[in-house]
Amino acid sequence: MKRVSRRHFLYTGAAFCCNSVSAQAFQLFEKKSSQSGPIDIKGGIFKGDAPKKPWKWSCEGSHYTKMLGNKVVCGICPHRCVLSPGDRSVCRSRVNIKGVLYSLVYGNPCAVNVDPVEKKPLFHFRPKTSVFSLATTGCNFRCLNCQNWEISQSKPDEVRHVELFPDEAVAAAGKSGSRSIAYTYSEAITFFEYMLAISRIARQHGLYNLLISNGYINKEPLLELCTVLDGANINLKAFDDSVYKKLNGGRLAPVLETFKTLNDNNVHFEMTNLVVPGYVDDDEMVKRMCDWILKTLGPDYPFHFLRFSPKYKLDRLPPTPVSTLTRFRELAIKEGIRYVYIGNVPGHEGANTYCHNCGKLLIKREGYSIPVYNLNGSVCRYCKTKIPGVWDKKI
Ligand code: SF4
Repeated sequence: MKRVSRRHFLYTGAAFCCNSVSAQAFQLFEKKSSQSGPIDIKGGIFKGDAPKKPWKWSCEGSHYTKMLGNKVVCGICPHRCVLSPGDRSVCRSRVNIKGVLYSLVYGNPCAVNVDPVEKKPLFHFRPKTSVFSLATTGCNFRCLNCQNWEISQSKPDEVRHVELFPDEAVAAAGKSGSRSIAYTYSEAITFFEYMLAISRIARQHGLYNLLISNGYINKEPLLELCTVLDGANINLKAFDDSVYKKLNGGRLAPVLETFKTLNDNNVHFEMTNLVVPGYVDDDEMVKRMCDWILKTLGPDYPFHFLRFSPKYKLDRLPPTPVSTLTRFRELAIKEGIRYVYIGNVPGHEGANTYCHNCGKLLIKREGYSIPVYNLNGSVCRYCKTKIPGVWDKKI
């Protein structure tokens, strides 16, 4: 395994200024395998692939059950991996060693960076603040269009890491001037124990915790996480179970449950949908999705339609036409969703926030900067309507 010193890692990662892009944080990666090869969309257990013994960055997993024959069942996500001794999980970072389930990535991130909160994207959570962002390897999905496949589809021993235990991560976040810590880039649910430990310490130090995720998590661990969670962006990949199966290697229903649980527990969240041509660009699907959101969650949670660009195993598809994104935004607003955004299209007015009551421009966004801001605390400066979200008194 290639390792770098913590000092060097933090210099090249966390010490970047707010507007640095993910690619900079990922400069440390040296993925051994290439993106070519058969498409394994279902994701399977890696039989006999666990290390012989736990290493320094192992911790015993939570939410798992021991079974006969030293087998274990992970209860973190709906895959519920059944691991025999020596097996590695679907998400690649959890293993069974002699009848104990271990996470192999505790205190061992492979990506650390400081981002603007708008990049997550979170548009209704303390605008213009900085977010200390970290990730370990691993993901419980196999999205054909993954943006970060170099780390999400890797085992911890295939990429470079740095040692950063929870108290050190919180100290580094504070030192960077960040207001929040985001668990992001790969799939935070797969480093659940590490995320939870950081989150608890972060709370004690007045930092907020943000989950950026596919939302594919079981209710019990999610409820535990909700006790320390301040915000989330959950990627709703599609509103169609068959698309989830063929594009992502997951199922729709558990993700919808995640939205309900976050709503029930008063966690602010925003929803993201990457509009992948040929997979997720159906008007009827958007209508059904809006209908479910309005009936189940109400009109106030912000929704982001993101433009797809050719990546990973879908590198031959064209980018999403801007006209499709504009049409979807108009459709969702017409259906009744109040705050609908378009992402990855520089200069599009769909990146701005308009008051749902008076229609005036509240927040103008240019990239990650905010040249116009017309909220007084949490209310519209013009008509005094309360705007849903979590707002600072001033930015
Ligand atoms: S978190 Fe990983 S090990 Fe646990 S059930 Fe999901 S894919 Fe399997």
